Amino acid sequence: TNELRLILGDQLNAQHSWFKDKSHNVTYVIAELYQEASYTTHHIQKISAFFAAMQAFASALEKAGHKVIYLTLDDTQKYADLPDLLNHLIKEHGIRSFCYQLPDEYRLRTQLTDYCKSLSIDYKVFDTEHFYLADNQLGGYFKQGKKHRLEHFYRKMRAEFNVLMDGDGPLTGQWNFDSQNRNKLKASDLADIPEPLVFANDVSDILTRIARHGIKTMGKAENQLLWPINRSQAKQLLVFFCKVLLPKFGQFQDAMTGKLIEFGEDKGWSLYHSRLSFAINAKMISPHSVVNAAIDAFEQNDDIDIAQVEGFVRQILGWREFVRGIYWANMPNYASLNALDANLPLPSWFWSGNTKMRCLSHAITQSLDFAYAHHIQRLMVTGNFCLIAGIHPDEVDDWYLGIYIDALEWVEMPNTRGMSQFADGGIVGSKAYAASGNYIKKMSDYCSDCHYKVVNTVGDDACPLNSLYWQFMDKHKDSFTNNPRTKMVLSNWLKKPEADREKVLSRANFLLQNLENL
Ligand code: FAD
Repeated sequence: TNELRLILGDQLNAQHSWFKDKSHNVTYVIAELYQEASYTTHHIQKISAFFAAMQAFASALEKAGHKVIYLTLDDTQKYADLPDLLNHLIKEHGIRSFCYQLPDEYRLRTQLTDYCKSLSIDYKVFDTEHFYLADNQLGGYFKQGKKHRLEHFYRKMRAEFNVLMDGDGPLTGQWNFDSQNRNKLKASDLADIPEPLVFANDVSDILTRIARHGIKTMGKAENQLLWPINRSQAKQLLVFFCKVLLPKFGQFQDAMTGKLIEFGEDKGWSLYHSRLSFAINAKMISPHSVVNAAIDAFEQNDDIDIAQVEGFVRQILGWREFVRGIYWANMPNYASLNALDANLPLPSWFWSGNTKMRCLSHAITQSLDFAYAHHIQRLMVTGNFCLIAGIHPDEVDDWYLGIYIDALEWVEMPNTRGMSQFADGGIVGSKAYAASGNYIKKMSDYCSDCHYKVVNTVGDDACPLNSLYWQFMDKHKDSFTNNPRTKMVLSNWLKKPEADREKVLSRANFLLQNLENL
C-alpha cells in the first residue's frame, strides 16, 4: 500500500521510529503552509527558522534514503489549507494510507482529527516519541481545572525517570536549590559573561519567499540566521551550553543586565541561558538528551555544582512537561480564561520597544532583535507589566505566541495566560507573579539608567511599576487576602493611611489612562 506520512514543522525528530526502516511505499511530506505562517503575527526569524529547519530535515531524510516531498509556500499556495493539500496529495500519488504524529497544538490536532473523519482511506496516528511522558500518559497526571503544582509533579518525574536520584531520595538529599539561584550580576561579573555561540544560516531565499507571499511578520529580519536549524547545530549548542554556560546557569538564572548592549556587545541578551528551546521544541533534539548531557557534564566536571544542574533539569523534566500536561487537560477552554478580568489593549510600544521604562524597553527591543528573551525577562518584565496593568490575556498571549523563536501554543499559553497573567486563577501557579520596581532593581542594573526613579511611587518621575503594582493588589484585595502567599503584603498596604493610598491609586489611574506614553 502507498502510504503518506505527514511531518509538521515542529516534528523534526530524526530518532522517531518512523525512520528506522526505509520503504518505497512510504512518502513523507513536509510543507510550508500559509495557515501556519499566518495564524498569528510571527517574528520573521521564527518563520525563517522553522522553514530552514524543515528544509534541512527533508534533505537529511532524503540523504538517508527516504522518499520525501518538500513543498514551499509557492507549491502550496493554491491549496486553501492543510486538509486541502492532503486531499490533493492523496489523489495525485494514489495513497492508500495516511499517517501523522499527534500535533502538540490544539488547533492542528483538531484540524487533523476532523480531516481524518472525512477520509475514505485508512489512517493511523502516532505519538511524537519526544516527551518524557507519552501523550496517552498525561491523563494519569493532569485533570481538567485542577490546581496542579510543579514541585509535586517534578519530584514524581525525578523519581520515575531516575534523574538526579540517590535511591528513593534526591541526590545530595535536597530537591530544590532555588535560594542559591537568585544572584544579581555585579559589575565585576559582566566581563566574564561568555559570547553566545551563534550560527550563520543563510535564509535569504526564505525571506524573499515570505515577503513574496505577503505574510505579515514582526521583528528584525536576518539573512544569516543565528538559530540552530539542524540536529548537528543543536548538538553543538548543547555541548557549548554544558561546557561554557552550565557552571553558572542556576546562579544567574534570574539575573538581568542592560549594560552589555550599551557597551556595544551582543552577549547580554542570553547570559547563561542555553537558547536550546527552539531546537527542543522543533524536536531536533530530545529533552532526554539535553538533560542527560547536563548531568554527564555535572558528573565529569568539578566546576558544575548540583544547584546549577538541578536548576536546569527542573526546567526541562519539570516545567516543560508540566505545562504540556496542563495545556492538554484544559484545552480548549483554557484559551479563554480571564480570571482577573483584565481588559486593556497592549500598548503599541510592545512592537517598537519605544518606552522610557528601561527594563521594558530593553526586554522588548531585544525580543524584536533576536526573537528571544530569557525566562525572567518574559515573566518579570513584560509579563509583570501586562499583569499589573491589566492587559487582556488574549492580547498578551498573541504577542508572546508571535514574538519568540520557541513559541508554540502548548508551551506559550500555560506560561503566559497561566504562570504570568494568572488568568487561569491558579491552575499553573499558586500566586500571581506581580512585582513592583523593587524586584527589577534587585535582579538587574536597569534602574540606575532609567528615566524613572525606582525609589518613588508617586510623582511624575516615579517608576510606573510601583503604583501599578499597588493598584493591582488593591483591585484584587478580596481574592488575594485569602491567599497565604499575598495576604501579608496586602495587609501592609491596607494599614497605610487612606490619603497615602489615594495618592498611589491616583498616580496609577493616570498611568493606566496613558499607557501609550510610558
Ligand atoms: P533556559 O533558561 O536555558 O532553560 C532550559 C530549557 O528549559 C528551555 O530551553 C526550555 O525548553 C525549558 N524551560 C524553561 N522554562 C520553561 C517553562 N517555564 N516552561 C517550559 N519550558 C521551560 N518557552 C517556550 O519554549 N516557548 C514559549 O512560547 C514560551 N513562552 C513563555 C512565555 C512566558 C510569559 C514565560 C514566563 C515563559 C515562557 N517560556 C516559553 C518558558 C521559558 O521562558 C523559555 O523556555 C526559555 O526562556 C527559553 O530559553 P532557553 O532555551 O535559553 O532556556
